[in-house]
Amino acid sequence: MTHRDLIVIGGGPAGAAAAIRAARAGIKVTVFEKGVYGRDKVCGDGLTPRAVGALQGLNIELDDAHQIRGLRMIAGKKHRELDWPTTEHFPNYGAVWPRKRLDAALMDAATEAGAEMIYSSEALPIMDGERAIGVEVNGKRWTADLVVLAAGAQGKAARILGAHRDPNEPFGLAIRTYAATPRDQDQHLEACLTLKDDQGTAVPGYGWMFPAGDGTVNIGVGALSTMKGFKSLNLNKLCDTYRDLVRDDWELGPYLEKPRAWRLPMSAIKRHGPGWVAVGDAAGLVNPMNGEGIDYGLETGVLIADLFEADPATAPQKYDAMVAEKFDAFLRTGRRFSFLIGHQQILRAGLKVAVGTDTIAKITLQVMGNLIDNKTPGAAGFVMSAADKLLGVADPMLRRTRAAA
Ligand SMILES: Cc1cc2nc3c(=O)[nH]c(=O)nc-3n(C[C@H](O)[C@H](O)[C@H](O)COP(=O)(O)OP(=O)(O)OC[C@H]3O[C@@H](n4cnc5c(N)ncnc54)[C@H](O)[C@@H]3O)c2cc1C
Repeated sequence: MTHRDLIVIGGGPAGAAAAIRAARAGIKVTVFEKGVYGRDKVCGDGLTPRAVGALQGLNIELDDAHQIRGLRMIAGKKHRELDWPTTEHFPNYGAVWPRKRLDAALMDAATEAGAEMIYSSEALPIMDGERAIGVEVNGKRWTADLVVLAAGAQGKAARILGAHRDPNEPFGLAIRTYAATPRDQDQHLEACLTLKDDQGTAVPGYGWMFPAGDGTVNIGVGALSTMKGFKSLNLNKLCDTYRDLVRDDWELGPYLEKPRAWRLPMSAIKRHGPGWVAVGDAAGLVNPMNGEGIDYGLETGVLIADLFEADPATAPQKYDAMVAEKFDAFLRTGRRFSFLIGHQQILRAGLKVAVGTDTIAKITLQVMGNLIDNKTPGAAGFVMSAADKLLGVADPMLRRTRAAA
């Protein structure tokens, strides 16, 4: 039996961030990653200023990423091109960084910091009653003071820990591929908010064109589970319909790979217990308002490493409390919002307001991207706290009347 201070299950942004931070603090950490080194992850590759800030906090060089200055929102014939807000807290630029390269950069940083990275190895938690005491990998047992579940959207490892998705909460599904375009250097993310499925149902979600700066654009569509007809939604068809819509504007070439879909988890029954915590997607930390999860993975990975360094015994409880303080209110409002826009008429009317004027669209961007600086919350902060209150009151009714899947 081999012992480590920290064992991390999964080498995505959340696991790598935990490993980088822990190894730099002299903690003995091993990361098990099921995929090979340089594995890809189905993703839009979009980094908001919040995510760029988190990467900078880890001293990750962003030279290999394509810089993005804002978002182009499209709702029907309305186009609004907005720059990211300037706040004291976050940089004023985002990026597109294809996950193959972003994740490899993070894995390299973890190795450089002294973390042991073991690829092509599935790790599953070993329990002693309620306590996680380590992992089993290829028949070998490894023990650890703390197991960090960073395995992405919940699967086998999460079930062993009882950290599965809450069936009463929404989640997302999204699909993406790449295509060649002469507009790869475009400096705005583009989001089309008025997608319709083949039944004519308005989709709570969006289609995206995220220019990667390398001759390609990441093209994809995503939808929330609160949508009417969600279970029969054909994401491949939706992606093709969206491609047809943007093909001329972007002079798009054919898909460079078969579009692939994956889940966006937005809840977890538990995110800590004796001897373990869950970070990133494994903890259900995806922003329901824009599908962003890389940042939350990075932030929670760093947080658990810092708390473990301070005191391994109290780290799981403190972690849960601090994640609650930092993210729960925002993400809860986001989940309520997703029930709200699951209602067709509300979605249509809401979109008209959201992109109605530049000022309102700017607030929408700041609220949805969780880019409100708590020290100077301004109008976006006001909208967010009003939405929190109103949606709190409306939530039971919105859930009761949710569109049948
Ligand atoms: C189509 C799509 C588009 C998206 N677009 C964006 C976007 O533009 N911007 C954004 O911020 N977010 C986006 N997201 C969300 C984002 O991809 C995730 O939130 C992010 O990858 C979470 O990072 P993570 O480290 O928690 O998990 P992951 O990146 O999923 O990494 C988990 C890793 O764990 C490994 N693993 C799983 N089980 C085991 C095991 N038992 N043992 C060992 N290894 C294991 C997996 O192989 C994987 O490498 C998108 C998601 C989808 C599906």
